[in-house]
Amino acid sequence: MAAEKMEFKTEVKELLNLMIHSLYSHKEIFLRELISNASDAIDKARHESLTNREILEACGEWKIKITPDQAAGTLTISDNGIGMTREEVVAELGTIAHSGTREFMQALKDASQKDKPGLIGQFGVGFYSAYMAADSVTVLTRKATEKTTKATRWESTADGTYSIDDATREQPGTDVVLHLRDDDKKYLQEWELRDVIRKYSDYIEHPVVMDITREKEDLADKEKKIKVVEEETLNSRKAIWLKDPSEIKTEEYNDFYKHVAHDYTDPAKVIHYRAEGTSEFTALLYIPQTAPYGILYRDFKIGPMLYVKRVQIMDHCAELIPEYLRFVRGVVDSSDLPLNVSREILQSNRQTGVIKKSVTKKVLDALAEMKKNDGPTYEKLYKEFGRVLKEGIHFDSSRKEEIADLLLFASTKTESGKYTTLSDYVRDMPIAQDAIYYIIGRPDENVLQSPYLEAFRTKGYEVLCLTDDIDDLIMLDLQEYKGKKIKNVIKGDVSLDKTTASEKEAQKGKFEKLLAKFKEQLKDEVKDVRLSGRLTDSASCLVADEGGLDPQMEKMLRSMGQDVPTQKRILEINPGHPVFETMNSMLTSGADEKVQEYIDLLYDQSLLLEGSKIKDPAAFARSVAKLMTGSVRGKDAV
Ligand code: ADP
Repeated sequence: MAAEKMEFKTEVKELLNLMIHSLYSHKEIFLRELISNASDAIDKARHESLTNREILEACGEWKIKITPDQAAGTLTISDNGIGMTREEVVAELGTIAHSGTREFMQALKDASQKDKPGLIGQFGVGFYSAYMAADSVTVLTRKATEKTTKATRWESTADGTYSIDDATREQPGTDVVLHLRDDDKKYLQEWELRDVIRKYSDYIEHPVVMDITREKEDLADKEKKIKVVEEETLNSRKAIWLKDPSEIKTEEYNDFYKHVAHDYTDPAKVIHYRAEGTSEFTALLYIPQTAPYGILYRDFKIGPMLYVKRVQIMDHCAELIPEYLRFVRGVVDSSDLPLNVSREILQSNRQTGVIKKSVTKKVLDALAEMKKNDGPTYEKLYKEFGRVLKEGIHFDSSRKEEIADLLLFASTKTESGKYTTLSDYVRDMPIAQDAIYYIIGRPDENVLQSPYLEAFRTKGYEVLCLTDDIDDLIMLDLQEYKGKKIKNVIKGDVSLDKTTASEKEAQKGKFEKLLAKFKEQLKDEVKDVRLSGRLTDSASCLVADEGGLDPQMEKMLRSMGQDVPTQKRILEINPGHPVFETMNSMLTSGADEKVQEYIDLLYDQSLLLEGSKIKDPAAFARSVAKLMTGSVRGKDAV
């Protein structure tokens, strides 16, 4: 095929622009990114070679070679990995295949200078980081499955276009040639390269080699020195997870984390253990400090890297961890799984299940331990991952209580910024209280003044304030904790007032006619009208059925574009409120029209209290004004 000049996709242009103009610090990470790509390419070739022996012969001994060329001003990173076909070069280096790119750009624009380098790795746009140090990049690549020397040359000065042409390469693999800018020529120095490679790529399993020229004594003539070129391996290549934990320094753990998680901050927690017995594997897992980008999106890649006896099999193995722990990063290296394991095999493999169970337990235990011994760190983590962790209550019913124990809640009794837990809540419950109560909303003034909380306040009952979109559903799943039912204050029949059963009967009789009137008039609006056991000061409120949706939840789901059927509510009236005495007397004196007006007013008022819109605000305003005028004249005083 002939040479072609092609345009980058718009997002690549933007990205390159950002790379060149906004990233100055930690420039040296370009080398880490390119070595990491080379290492990935070798992993892929090695994996392929398990079923295709020819690849092994064609590629030779796996290695990554760094070649600085002082005269040409170029730095070349070569690998004998999988390589790319012409089509792959266009697809991989001309566009950005990752869906998170838009977010990346935005994040990059918003991020402070010191955070920017970390973002590059996190979004997997590693290759383009070459342009932080080079004004032109050439890629020469031959696919490992290609049996001839046919290769592809790609070149770009990041001016919006790239050229692509046929070429030849002796061995399969890829050379990435950076034409360094004058300011960045220091990356041709041996000591600088050694330094950067030790710093960022020491754990890379494959040897990163460089030709080193040394002066040696000439054995024939001791006075003379001769120059000898020797290939030296610059990285220690230790698979850190296979080392004994007592031999690993925190720094090493953290560096490795940054590599696997593409994060730039240290992890919050390291979990490193070896399992023996029914299943043999090593796990080195990390809980990050902050949630990785896209954790709430569908295409977020879940799971630790999977190795089988040091051979990398998968970048992310979703089968090894439950989704609700998807913030966990790291490596699992199994001794039992077959090397040619596929997704299908993993799904039905018993070993996978054993590993997943063990990993889940270790992570939950680590979180519980942190919650107990390092509250402030746990609270920070919870802000990041609590929303994801909670999903476990829905999806992992066998660990419902265990996960419930990890949840933190603001409540009507916690100070601002402080949290309580279900177990503390239950411990502090008054003896008479028989359920755990919650309301959907932030613990701010509005919620605290909510009429739904009146009786709870009077009784001194604590109410949890839940704010996440899935909270109501999660609580429905949880149902109870330590034998105590969990109830939404806005749902079902709550009876917290002091009235006895016989008093209740008497009240029912007293308000029977009035209730019937309410029901008749509001039959299209509400499901039922009943006497309330949750109000002390307010006259009335709307509540949902026990199994119905919370009105806040309903609103939230609608705003997310979900088709939520309208659910009729129940109107509760407070038998202790004087307005109903007045209405009762109106009814006896035949002032039906007034009663009707009052019913409408009370219903509208309840809608407002619930946070819903009223149907006819003008009519409501007129009625209120009329009532006010009447009350000034001393007629209809309530
Ligand atoms: P990422 O590595 O996160 O996918 P990059 O921008 O670094 O993103 O690379 C894009 C793609 O280009 C890689 O996914 C890979 O398919 C291909 N690629 C990059 N470097 C190499 C290489 N040395 N050998 C083979 N393929 C490579």
